[in-house]
Amino acid sequence: MNARSEYDIAFVGLKEGIHEFNYKIDRSFFENFESSPILDCDISVLLKFDKKNAFFLLDFQISGTVKLNCNRCNSELNYPIDGDFPVVVKMDGELPADALADEDVIYISRSETHLNVEQLLYEFINLTVPAYIVDCSNIPGKSCNQEVLNILNQLNQNNNNEKDPRWDSLKNIKFK
Ligand SMILES: [Zn+2]
Repeated sequence: MNARSEYDIAFVGLKEGIHEFNYKIDRSFFENFESSPILDCDISVLLKFDKKNAFFLLDFQISGTVKLNCNRCNSELNYPIDGDFPVVVKMDGELPADALADEDVIYISRSETHLNVEQLLYEFINLTVPAYIVDCSNIPGKSCNQEVLNILNQLNQNNNNEKDPRWDSLKNIKFK
């Protein structure tokens, strides 16, 4: 993946203190990620970037909707998501002894001038998507498309009938 420069933060030019970055994320964002489980969404991300002397504190605040399909009737759902993901970014050379055990710390080289947050945005947005299977009942005020459910039920019944051994004898009937 070639990280897009629009997600670069040129931290060398920033004063110490909190800086805010806003990102609008829609389907075009995911075109850079093969096999993304999310194909479309309408998401806003507020990134609070706190520049300290020796490290940065990042806080990604994610909210919006992702497009998912109902597991029962296949209707398209705008599923509401939100999440808050803090990350610490440290410069190489200040590695604490337990660095590898700490997943929420990212280390970058002292020679870096930019931090690209595209991959972080991708991972955090994916973490906001529910791990459980969603259907219309997960969305307030929405219910499954009854017409589609009726058709699916009908298809199920037909399939069951075909497998029903009671019908086997019918196959032997010869029509003259
Ligand atoms: Zn449904």
